[in-house]
Amino acid sequence: MEPSKLKDHVFKKGKFTTPLNTIMTPLNDDDSWSYGRLPEYLWIGLVLKKYGRSVGLEKIYKIILILHELAPDLFAPRMSDVLSLESPVQASFYEQVLTIMPKDTIAPLTLLLTQSKYPVFAEFFCTPTLDIKRRQDVILETMQNLMDHQTYEATDIRFVVLYFELISGRLNILKEQGDLLREYPTLDHANEKMRMIRPMIRSMEMMSLHLEKINKEYITLFWGGISKMTDCNLFTIKFKNEDKDIATYLEQLHEVFIYLSQLFTSVNPLDEKMKVILGIATYSYKRFKEAANHNLFNSISGRGCIRVMIENYIMLKYLLKKESEHQNIWREYQYYGLGLYKLVLARHRECQDLNVTSHFDKDYIEALVNEFIIEESVDMDTRYFDQQNIRLKAEAVNEKDLFGLYYDYDSSFEHGLWGAIRESSLVKCHNPAHQYHCVPDVDDNNNLKSVLPDCIMIMRKTLMLLNELYGLPDALYEEVKNFDV
Ligand SMILES: [Zn+2]
Repeated sequence: MEPSKLKDHVFKKGKFTTPLNTIMTPLNDDDSWSYGRLPEYLWIGLVLKKYGRSVGLEKIYKIILILHELAPDLFAPRMSDVLSLESPVQASFYEQVLTIMPKDTIAPLTLLLTQSKYPVFAEFFCTPTLDIKRRQDVILETMQNLMDHQTYEATDIRFVVLYFELISGRLNILKEQGDLLREYPTLDHANEKMRMIRPMIRSMEMMSLHLEKINKEYITLFWGGISKMTDCNLFTIKFKNEDKDIATYLEQLHEVFIYLSQLFTSVNPLDEKMKVILGIATYSYKRFKEAANHNLFNSISGRGCIRVMIENYIMLKYLLKKESEHQNIWREYQYYGLGLYKLVLARHRECQDLNVTSHFDKDYIEALVNEFIIEESVDMDTRYFDQQNIRLKAEAVNEKDLFGLYYDYDSSFEHGLWGAIRESSLVKCHNPAHQYHCVPDVDDNNNLKSVLPDCIMIMRKTLMLLNELYGLPDALYEEVKNFDV
């Protein structure tokens, strides 16, 4: 089966209108386009959205000429700068703007620029007939196309910003650049030439950024207002839920382990090596069976399952490989594990406030630690078994990829590292007003990709190893070995 592609899921949901990288890019940087500048220039976006590119740019051209005439000290057509102008100047500007376009064009901004805070603006642009929902929708639709700083729409706005800077005299450019800029509003975005002009505009618009003083108060007011007004729009990632019927496979596996277990009890009941090997393999089998019985293949616990199956397999190979270098590696391996149990036991004995309902059962663990030898003779070694961590062990048995590609990834889930937390427990919100933040995935909107194929792959490797050592019945071995999803 071909692994599912993220892209496919995205588009199948049919919810997605902007490229993935837009909503995956961190945004809340004062200088960044979407966080720090878009709120200032959203008014231009509203005009372009209403009139379309060609008519919109003409109207804005007239507007910025008026602005420059009224406020020759302004270097950028920023909303916060306009709102900071003296009241009579603001009033005069708005009055002239309204001769170029009706007030409903930028009226949606009154949602944020309220009477109490910006009385002059509100007085000119308040439109009671435009209800709150409609104002929100217009703002969100406009922002959606502008959040990515490279869209055509964002570039059009950045062109206006740049043009205003040229009018204001803050920026000097080469004649050839000026010629290209003048052509920009007349050319369609599909025009070949635009492939060169657009990046030029974007980089030039950035040039004077360091001269700008960010109006933090306005930016905060904008995001604070817009983010609270609108609801989350969750963008969920749904991988295919594992639905492969593995009942027959589970039966065959059961047969394999029953066969090996009977072989052990009837032929070699005292074979320490066989006990350890079958113990480890059975642990893998049980983890796999648990995942199957409880349908954990798409869950976080499923990742714990595949991780331990890999670790067990690497350990098996490692023990076999190092067997000859040790007096009795099988016994050492058991003592090592029991030593770790003994350590916890000792801590438990010293702990005053014992929780009787804890899943650690002192009496039972004590019995296990003392099962065949007296506890006092068990060393407690808190280092890795054989002083090699799992990565080194994997390398020693030529399973570096298994470790690097799988085990490490799944370890993030077992240790609660951020990658795993982000992947499994947070869900993306597709609302531009929320800056595409992540919210807790309390209700399992996301799921994880199935671990079943990997579990089968590791089980196959484990079975091959067991077959080499103990010889499984041919027909049965062929069936389990060749099972695939
Ligand atoms: Zn949200």
